[in-house]
Amino acid sequence: MKEKNPKRTDSPLIFERSRPGRRGTAVPEPDVPTRPLEELLPKAMMRKEPPSLPEVSENEVVRHFTEISLMNHHVDRGFYPLGSCTMKYNPKVNEQTARLPGLADLHPFQPTSAVQGALRLMWELGDMLKEIVGMDEITLQPAAGAQGELVGALLFRAYHTAQGDPRKKIIIPDSAHGTNPATVRMAGYEVVTLKSNEEGRMDPGALESALGEDVAGVMLTNPNTLGKFESDVEEIARLVHEAGGLMYMDGANLNALIGVARPGDLGYDIVHLNLHKTFSTPHGGGGPGAGPVAVKEHLAPYLPLPILTRAGDGGYALDWERPESIGKVHGFWGNFGVLVRAYTYIRMLGRDGMRRTGMAAVLNNAYMSARLEGTYSLPYGRGMHESVFSGSFLKEHGVRTLDVAKRLLDFGVHAPTVYFPLIVPEAIMAEPTETETKDELDRFCEAMLQIAEEAKADPEFVKNAPYSTPVRRLDEALANRRPNVRYRPEGSD
Ligand SMILES: *Cc1c(COP(=O)(O)O)cnc(C)c1O
Repeated sequence: MKEKNPKRTDSPLIFERSRPGRRGTAVPEPDVPTRPLEELLPKAMMRKEPPSLPEVSENEVVRHFTEISLMNHHVDRGFYPLGSCTMKYNPKVNEQTARLPGLADLHPFQPTSAVQGALRLMWELGDMLKEIVGMDEITLQPAAGAQGELVGALLFRAYHTAQGDPRKKIIIPDSAHGTNPATVRMAGYEVVTLKSNEEGRMDPGALESALGEDVAGVMLTNPNTLGKFESDVEEIARLVHEAGGLMYMDGANLNALIGVARPGDLGYDIVHLNLHKTFSTPHGGGGPGAGPVAVKEHLAPYLPLPILTRAGDGGYALDWERPESIGKVHGFWGNFGVLVRAYTYIRMLGRDGMRRTGMAAVLNNAYMSARLEGTYSLPYGRGMHESVFSGSFLKEHGVRTLDVAKRLLDFGVHAPTVYFPLIVPEAIMAEPTETETKDELDRFCEAMLQIAEEAKADPEFVKNAPYSTPVRRLDEALANRRPNVRYRPEGSD
């Protein structure tokens, strides 16, 4: 029988490709004297059997990993409008610099005298980031935004303890990212949730009545997770400071402000940056990130150790003598490779390029929102760099936002963030970023509009999507708890 698509579909595991004796590498003869392993390791630690590693040739390895990379979606394959995550394209030059042997092959135990170049890179990156956010001091150590938040909350505690009272509560708006209340709790503070006003912003009046002597401060994302600029931020900062509190900005959405507004000028005392969002770096799937935390002068004594400083001879040194520091928060100096990528990204774009980045991100979102808002409603209006649409209008057809997200996968687009922020029913949060062309934005908008039509005409069709992905609808809880990584095409067993 003629088969239309006789491609292999069994996609074997690399262990199933294994054949005894097949080799993928040629290791050179050692040029140092060898000793048997038995002399080097205690007997109890030796294996009885060799490990059962796959035995495969080099091209089988390459094909295997290329194939599985195509089963997944990533920003090098297609559009990735995952709201709040700023999934911009990561320029390949970043990867080249991060792999330079002089940077990639450093060992964290090398003495500072042997790694002056790396320290200089961190120093200059710190300087550029401080300028971007308008702050006085910075730590590059935290590994992610969430860890930056934890550092921020610990800084709140250290600062207030030094004033004589650590205080008890931190105020967070109801639009906040889940990491905000989670990290605040981890740091031992109580969360006070403030209801957003009808514009989706923090209301200074509501804030005023929540403030008091037991409030350590406010955590306020800007623009917030609805993409809205907190236009009362200066008034908010004044009220918080008057009450003796501190202002923390979750800087995950900095892409919207870059080169235009600086958290330090807006009245914030602390901000974290997500280098893996605003400053490229491939992320998603749990890859490494970096969440530097920048602060105003009055919080500098409490920053994590060690602090990078200039030595008397013009070189770079590490300062471990900060008795009021909250301590170390990461092994060694943080995720250095991510710092190299961010450094490269900023230096490639320069001041003017960074500014245009932010403005283009906002422009792209304005275009996308304008094309979609006649169909998908925007309960809080258009956002800056991202907008939160509602799929509620599809409910009467029995179709939910989740179904729209699943159907989008058939268009080769990563689904936007759904059901977040919690204050928008059937939320669809899309963030195009500046790295997409108008053609790509059009393709996405047309897909979204087509899905809305499909949902009205044939709800079951949309509810059964996706049709073209390696796996269809998974039990999401089970897929997380007991992931089955063995791919079996539908119907094969
Ligand atoms: C991504 C994000 C975070 C958390 O940052 P991670 O780097 O993922 O830990 C916090 N807040 C907002 C608004 C975010 O978008």
